[in-house]
Amino acid sequence: MANEPLQQQLALLYQLQERDQELLSIQRKLQEIPRSIQQLESDVIESEEDMAAKSAELAETEKEQRAKNAEIEMNAIQREKYRDEQRIVKTNEAYDALERQIEYLDKEDEEAEDTILVLMEKSDQLKEELAQLEVEVNREKQKTATETAQLQQELQDLETERDEKLKRRKAFLPKIEKGLRDEYYRWMKAQFANRSGAARAKTGFVALSKNGICDSCRIAIQPQTLKEAQKYQKQVYCSSCKRLLYVEPATPDVPFP
Ligand SMILES: [Zn+2]
Repeated sequence: MANEPLQQQLALLYQLQERDQELLSIQRKLQEIPRSIQQLESDVIESEEDMAAKSAELAETEKEQRAKNAEIEMNAIQREKYRDEQRIVKTNEAYDALERQIEYLDKEDEEAEDTILVLMEKSDQLKEELAQLEVEVNREKQKTATETAQLQQELQDLETERDEKLKRRKAFLPKIEKGLRDEYYRWMKAQFANRSGAARAKTGFVALSKNGICDSCRIAIQPQTLKEAQKYQKQVYCSSCKRLLYVEPATPDVPFP
């Protein structure tokens, strides 16, 4: 259909551009979703690591507690030995020396018991925190599972939507002159080649114009250029942003855009 009037071709190219913008936005979402899923999962892993660290701290505290208890048990055996010796010593000096040893053991026990009390308090605190963390992690896991399932469903729906749109796009394409299409592709491709261009590509190659203003760059179109564009005899470009202008007709006899 190479002989369609230019005005209609511009309208069709603009429609194609709108279809492509929708497809691009779907594509962006399709790329974002797996990243979101990954983020959710890494949050859970982080919480699990917190829990593992707290668990290790608790194990270490309980180990210290057992060591202190063992110390007290050893002291009890030693104390028993001293008492046995006290029963058989012949001098007061020897008896007193053993008594001092026993007193030393008593003092050691007292310190060990104090330490045990502190460690027990710490254990209790850690157990409480751990239980709380476990509840949180489980809640987070459940939330992540639900959200991941939702995201995966969304992904699937978007893929279906994209495939349908691509099919319709393919059927739509032949309505537009190849030369015009190629120009559009070249422009879009050039934009995507660099980062700043990608933002430009979002507003597309065809710029609408109403009331003599280029919709893309918001610059007023020179009256001479506008008049020429409204004849739809040749392609006219915005002098500022270099986009192909699709201007509102002087006498709006066809729907615009
Ligand atoms: Zn412009």
